[in-house]
Amino acid sequence: MQKVKYSLPISQRVYLIAILKGMMVTGRHFLRNLLRPGQMPTINYPEIRRKYSSRFRGLQILTVKENGELRCTACMLCATACPAACIHITAAEHPDPKVEKFPLEFNIDMLRCVFCGMCEEACPVDAIRMGPTYELANFDRSDFIFTKEELVKHGNFTQSKVKHH
Ligand code: SF4
Ligand code: SF4
Repeated sequence: MQKVKYSLPISQRVYLIAILKGMMVTGRHFLRNLLRPGQMPTINYPEIRRKYSSRFRGLQILTVKENGELRCTACMLCATACPAACIHITAAEHPDPKVEKFPLEFNIDMLRCVFCGMCEEACPVDAIRMGPTYELANFDRSDFIFTKEELVKHGNFTQSKVKHH
């Protein structure tokens, strides 16, 4: 049987050359980034945070009325529309006869949420909105269940301050 001869060029047989070439590319980028940090394509997170569009869908916000009460009337439309079944509401009768119901409990399991925005779309009274918060890392699974108190607090604004898109 005839032996097959491999005739790789010297540059490919001496792997050191390839490694050096790669290191030169890395070094070039390192020096460029060091000398011109403003032109880096990356962001120095968390010192610098990217500004996302106002249409960004992050952690939900429960909006409140001027008197500080939740706008939510516990109608369950958002929970029904949610494809991930991650909204859990316990409705209760409101002491004010003009308001039928309010959410005694309003929890969102953010480990299940797919940030589709269907809850926001379904709400007839604009009581839930997709907010700008995207930092949702936690150490415990239970910390991903956001209660109504947390969902209101992190939004921290009333309906009158909400900018309509
Ligand atoms: S964004 Fe989508 S998945 Fe998340 S709570 Fe709203 S409807 Fe459910
Ligand atoms: S957030 Fe809106 S859709 Fe969801 S229960 Fe409250 S009022 Fe209904």
